[in-house]
Amino acid sequence: MRKRMRGVPEAGETMDGWREYLREVQAQLEELRAMGITDLVLPAEAPRAPAPAARAAQPPPARSAAPLPPAHAPRATPPPVGPQASLPPPAAAAAERGAVVAASAGDRAAALAAEKAALQACRRCKLCESRKTIVYGVGSPHADVMFVGEGPGEDEDRTGEPFVGKAGQLLTKIIEAMGLTREQVYIANVVKCRPPNNRTPMLDETEQCYPFLRRQIEIVRPRIIVSLGLSASQTLLQVTIPIGKLRGNFYKFGEARVMPTFHPAYLLRTPGDKKLVWDDMKKVMAELGLQAPRGDK
Ligand code: SF4
Repeated sequence: MRKRMRGVPEAGETMDGWREYLREVQAQLEELRAMGITDLVLPAEAPRAPAPAARAAQPPPARSAAPLPPAHAPRATPPPVGPQASLPPPAAAAAERGAVVAASAGDRAAALAAEKAALQACRRCKLCESRKTIVYGVGSPHADVMFVGEGPGEDEDRTGEPFVGKAGQLLTKIIEAMGLTREQVYIANVVKCRPPNNRTPMLDETEQCYPFLRRQIEIVRPRIIVSLGLSASQTLLQVTIPIGKLRGNFYKFGEARVMPTFHPAYLLRTPGDKKLVWDDMKKVMAELGLQAPRGDK
């Protein structure tokens, strides 16, 4: 009767123990060969757990998609304010979470049209109760620069186009002074429905509507976003810093850069600050490679 083989030596076995084990293996193989058995079929090995070091190198399991960060979420510590100051990019955060997928260059117009059509019945916030129409956005789907205001006014609510009232006409002059046309830029607001009596949109309203603006930005992919006034600037940058301190500096927003400046409606009340806005626009023009008007450096 064949002697029962001992098991595989364990760690710490002596050399004599290993030699004895190998002798037993060799004897077993010779015995099998004498019986005419030359091929061995080994049982399938169960997958092994990775070594601790390999486990540590593996990426963590993917997380499920999370909702977009709320607008106006105040920071515990205000970010640095100054030229080229950098803020965490909300767009990148959304992309990480897989919340949205940017449209390819060829179908931006179609993507915007689809977003606008889908928005027509939106009742995510109470602004839907008093609106006449949704004011989505207007301009080039391939614009290098996007202007973002607070929300539609009476004229915009009536026509469905952003920035067509007195403030809008001033914005058009600013755009044209930059050597551009309304058709070459993209214009939108944070909220797409008119707040009653042109009041400032409330926090819950900007939070509900903000994803639609984010989607517009991701489709158009502008190089520069000019945020007009406090509400748009604070919503995009997710800070509570006053517009007077934010304006005039570029901030990172995904692959774009945000230039906060005063709202044209504010300039209608405070024309003395038009020069400050023009200073900000000259920085945008320099970034875009646009020439400042002759004699205006
Ligand atoms: S403001 Fe925006 S979120 Fe609110 S109802 Fe209008 S489209 Fe919907």
